[in-house]
Amino acid sequence: MHCGACCFSQAVEYVAVTGDDWARLGERADAVAHFIGNKAFMRMDDGHCVALRVMPEGTFLCDVYEERPSTCRDLAEGSRECEGERATKAERPAQALVALRRSRGRAAP
Ligand code: SF4
Repeated sequence: MHCGACCFSQAVEYVAVTGDDWARLGERADAVAHFIGNKAFMRMDDGHCVALRVMPEGTFLCDVYEERPSTCRDLAEGSRECEGERATKAERPAQALVALRRSRGRAAP
């Protein structure tokens, strides 16, 4: 994962988790996903999916990459959908990185 833009949203019902997704997440499902009504979604934290890890060196990792939901699997890197996400949310990964570095007392890039 290069930018993580598609993992950002203020919506709590953002990444749907199907029954198959829940099963694939295995023992980690409860930690990263939850039910809202009768539908499951990835948990969101600080404007992004809880499984997204913002690394201080400026990379973005998905903690459940091998088991990620089908919605995430279907969004191919470099696709039109990917480009759309990057165009509309371009500033969010950079903002998260700045916030992380500030919280650690490091200068912003
Ligand atoms: S599961 Fe991984 S790829 Fe999908 S939104 Fe969360 S961090 Fe991003």
